[in-house]
Amino acid sequence: MNYIVFDLEWNQSSDRASARPSLPFEIIEIGAVKLDAALREVGRFDRFVRPRIYRRMNPMTKKVTHLDVKNMTGEAFFPDVMKDFLEFCGEDFIFCTWGESDLWELQRNMRYFHVDNPFPKPLLFYDVQKLYSLRYDDGRSRLGLKAAIEERGFEEQEAFHLAISDAIYTARLMQEMNLEGVEKYVSVDYFRLPENESEEIYLVFPTYAKYVSRPFPEKEDVMKDHTVTQMRCYLCGRPLRRHVRWFPTGERTYQALFSCPQHGYLKGKIRIKKSRTSAVFAVRTVKCVSEEKAEELKERRVGFIEKRREAAKRSRVRAKEKKRAARAASRGREKPAEPAAVQTQAEE
Ligand SMILES: [Zn+2]
Repeated sequence: MNYIVFDLEWNQSSDRASARPSLPFEIIEIGAVKLDAALREVGRFDRFVRPRIYRRMNPMTKKVTHLDVKNMTGEAFFPDVMKDFLEFCGEDFIFCTWGESDLWELQRNMRYFHVDNPFPKPLLFYDVQKLYSLRYDDGRSRLGLKAAIEERGFEEQEAFHLAISDAIYTARLMQEMNLEGVEKYVSVDYFRLPENESEEIYLVFPTYAKYVSRPFPEKEDVMKDHTVTQMRCYLCGRPLRRHVRWFPTGERTYQALFSCPQHGYLKGKIRIKKSRTSAVFAVRTVKCVSEEKAEELKERRVGFIEKRREAAKRSRVRAKEKKRAARAASRGREKPAEPAAVQTQAEE
């Protein structure tokens, strides 16, 4: 299997009025490095794309990339460049990108310009930015490509923000990491979601498990669905005992606590994400946690219940006051000059 390390440059509308919602970013360069199974470079792809939609360079984009679509009138349009790129990719490969956005934008451009999407479903890829964090940091931090290059002490031979040079840098970081200990941490593309329950995605990593749901109309529908909220131990398949039911820990996140007789406490986290079609879907991760972390979550749930109780009390008080005010107002309308009505309200 080969690694296709790619990067894109894209242009966007200079003013809001002429922006197309279905194509906010139009690809103007595809740059890629092909690495073989041993991470040796075996090919390069570097093509500019003649734009069809945004034919004037967005000033900000121009400043960052130093590219200008004016110079691309001799280039091929996206469908032709994409055809060549797919040929370059070959049959057996995995995409590697710095961050998650390039694979999304590539597919959005393919959809917009009616290029068939030949990628497998689910489409797994390496987010090298994430791998870098897993390898050298806590797995959560996200470093810019330039910062990572500097941190590794590489000489900066190429300009940044040119698709081909960013692909070269990313490939170099992969070679440096040798994917040691991180090769199991593939990412899942969310551009094309599971369309039904049978297509839903279950992945098990060395330190956690991930599930990606089909889309739902609303956040509430997601949390009512048993496939999303119920599960077995991802390590042994045993039914789990629930200690803390799913409760919100943010606007789009929920957490819960379970235990397996063999593997101890498991913490679940559900993130609600917006799909391409503005439906919502769930990404659920589960990992083993210590007793201490389990207790923390139990306390957090208690705090949540207390807060909710107080909020309910406040809203009951507000409703009562509103009712009272409405009553007073209607009495006031009946007898406009009666001061006694106001008096009664104050005494209550
Ligand atoms: Zn288990």
